[in-house]
Amino acid sequence: MNDPLVARMRAFGTTIFTEMSALAARTGAINLGQGFPDTDGPAAMLERAATAIREGANQYPPGPGVPDLRQAVSEHRKASYGLDYDPDGEILVTVGATEAIAASVLALCEPGDEVIAFEPYYDSYAAAIALAGAVLRPVTLRPVEGRFTFDPAELRAAVGPRTRAILVNSPHNPTGTVFTRAELDEIAELCRERDLVAVTDEVYEHLTFDGVEHIPLATLPGMRERTVMISSAGKTFSVTGWKTGWVCGPAPFVRAVQTVKQFLTFTASAPWQLAVAHGLRHEMEWVSRQRADLEAKRDRLTAGLAAAGFEVYRPAGTYFVQTDIRPLGFTDGLALARELPELAGVVAIPTQVFYAHPERGSHFVRFAFCKKEAVIDEAVARLSALSRRS
Ligand SMILES: *Cc1c(COP(=O)(O)O)cnc(C)c1O
Repeated sequence: MNDPLVARMRAFGTTIFTEMSALAARTGAINLGQGFPDTDGPAAMLERAATAIREGANQYPPGPGVPDLRQAVSEHRKASYGLDYDPDGEILVTVGATEAIAASVLALCEPGDEVIAFEPYYDSYAAAIALAGAVLRPVTLRPVEGRFTFDPAELRAAVGPRTRAILVNSPHNPTGTVFTRAELDEIAELCRERDLVAVTDEVYEHLTFDGVEHIPLATLPGMRERTVMISSAGKTFSVTGWKTGWVCGPAPFVRAVQTVKQFLTFTASAPWQLAVAHGLRHEMEWVSRQRADLEAKRDRLTAGLAAAGFEVYRPAGTYFVQTDIRPLGFTDGLALARELPELAGVVAIPTQVFYAHPERGSHFVRFAFCKKEAVIDEAVARLSALSRRS
């Protein structure tokens, strides 16, 4: 039988996370592949979800989201960034950032429109763009003095007459780069000049290190009116299984995204929304302790990977560290990732799967450090075997 899958989705087989997590389960290897924490979110927030279920928050909430969460998001945007979003019309709750991204691209891009994204990119971007019948124009991030960045001339050259939007993920998964004000200025200038919409994926907004500050693109001059800003509770509160995210933006954009979103899922689950409202109001201190804890874990894993012989790019944010495998004598990250459980009892993610040009990322492998210290230490001990192999 012919493949029943529509042609535009055929390039998107099983995601690398499914493949690598299955490999970890089959071999008993330590899973530093998929980015989910192995510890729980704030206890009172978890309790709030349980209470919400017991108290009957079990039917469809309003399409735009539970009013209490929209209000809490609005207050949180104001307190964190000085941005004003009206809870009625400028904020939409979604089923995680993933749905927010897909609904935004589907709502804003006509077939044939072009969307710029920095590669390596979060894998759902390419799929959402393909679903919309739009065209991905990748701009490559490359290491310059130890951190990944883009060439402003390449970014400019990627904009054409059909360019509709730019997807901006900072703090950036998988490279750990947090865009500087100068980098964001380049992006903002281009958006204003060429009348582009910015869709920003800010799921790691609170997870930055070394005092590096996350700057939302919407805070730059002339950008609030053309930015669809996406956040999620998953990474902020270590509840990746809750799939609760939100979109903030000017009313016409949010209305457009909601028009699509209502036919994908209509609304997001009620109990989590009530619990996340509690989180935004009462658990930001927990989040800052979490950030400090993650920073220490980042240091532990980066030191261990460097000692094991990897070239390490020290991340300024996120759950992930990017490495170059060539100092260890390897060249193909995909082949290494598939062999790594046998070589060292560890699972990692080959970064090349996040590129439109895989050859540009063939020698990079991503490791997650959102894991218990003992897990990181054991992984590091195992990986030290790599440089001793004959
Ligand atoms: C985890 C992640 C997401 C998905 O967030 P959900 O809220 O779980 O859908 C989106 N973008 C990036 C960069 C991520 O790392």
